[in-house]
Amino acid sequence: MSILVTRSSMPDIEEYMDEIKPIFESHWMTNMGPVYKKFQKLLIDYLQVPEMSLFVNGHMALEMAIDAFGLKEKGGEVITTPFTFVSTTHAIIRNNLKPVFCDIKSDDFTMDPEKIESLITNKTVAIIPVHVYGNICDVEAIQEIADRHNLKVIYDAAHAFGVKYKGIGIGNFGDASMFSFHATKVFNTIEGGSIAFKDKSYRTKLHELKNFGIHGPEDVNGIGGNAKLDEFRAAMGICNLRHIEEYINARRKAAQCYDKYLGDIPGIRVGRQRKNVTANYAYYPVYFDGKVFGKTRDQVFEELAERGIFARKYFYPAVNEMTCYKDGCLQNTPIAHNVSTHILTLPLYEELAIEDVERICSIILR
Ligand SMILES: *Cc1c(COP(=O)(O)O)cnc(C)c1O
Repeated sequence: MSILVTRSSMPDIEEYMDEIKPIFESHWMTNMGPVYKKFQKLLIDYLQVPEMSLFVNGHMALEMAIDAFGLKEKGGEVITTPFTFVSTTHAIIRNNLKPVFCDIKSDDFTMDPEKIESLITNKTVAIIPVHVYGNICDVEAIQEIADRHNLKVIYDAAHAFGVKYKGIGIGNFGDASMFSFHATKVFNTIEGGSIAFKDKSYRTKLHELKNFGIHGPEDVNGIGGNAKLDEFRAAMGICNLRHIEEYINARRKAAQCYDKYLGDIPGIRVGRQRKNVTANYAYYPVYFDGKVFGKTRDQVFEELAERGIFARKYFYPAVNEMTCYKDGCLQNTPIAHNVSTHILTLPLYEELAIEDVERICSIILR
């Protein structure tokens, strides 16, 4: 049987049935109904954030978070990372803003704060960093720079559900944070996403943007879209949230097993958890130097695939090397280029058996 890089966590079918029964009784299937409200409250408690607005997916949540700060009308430049899923960059461009790519750190692959300031111009309006793989950005340094230049900070926290820094929920940093609840993430609502934020005035803006700009029954005061999370997905979220600790524990065990076999091998580098961070084990990225370690990333990828194990070259290519971005906004980001051509994310999910982790490691080490 083949092993894919990820496999969605799902509750028992009976548990989900119980949660959707009230929807069948009320016929209230969407538009911020009681299940949405219940789920929203549970999420705010779990993530320990002041406010949260729920969306149909993480991408639309990010697009609308940028829009809600008025950045779309303003135009300008946004400093961001090329080492991410392409959604981050698309969300910037689709808001009429220009991405300016900042290089990453070679140890944890997040945006290098030391390289931000030289990219700031009088057109810069925001910084959109990514907690890539659930590795948290240098939130303190980034905030300090943003404050000095009066810039908004919106985190793409798609990978960072449940991560804490110094005991504080990761969604509390910056002006807003986007979480994705896509089926492939640590926590899912099938498709879904959310924005965590502090400023209460932002609540109405986000609400209207995701609901056609409707302000009241007879008042439409903005040009919104439609990106609401429906009741069935909220119900899936309630079920999965009940089991989130089990999901993360299972991932931790698998990650620790990878660490045991791959942690001290010359020429390969595995992620190290930072001090003061409660991790969620979203991904297991491994860097293959291709020199000291006899095989390149691509050779390891192929040899695993031949044995039915499908790792992913996440994130390759770097966004600023993709066809749609190659022209016009290529910045010099040598570390992102290097990492994207040497990194492989190994299978990691709740139901991955430890024996399978051992098998994957033995193939790599052979
Ligand atoms: C998954 C992901 C998104 C998009 O989230 P969706 O819920 O799939 O729309 C954005 N950014 C990153 C880094 C992601 O991994």
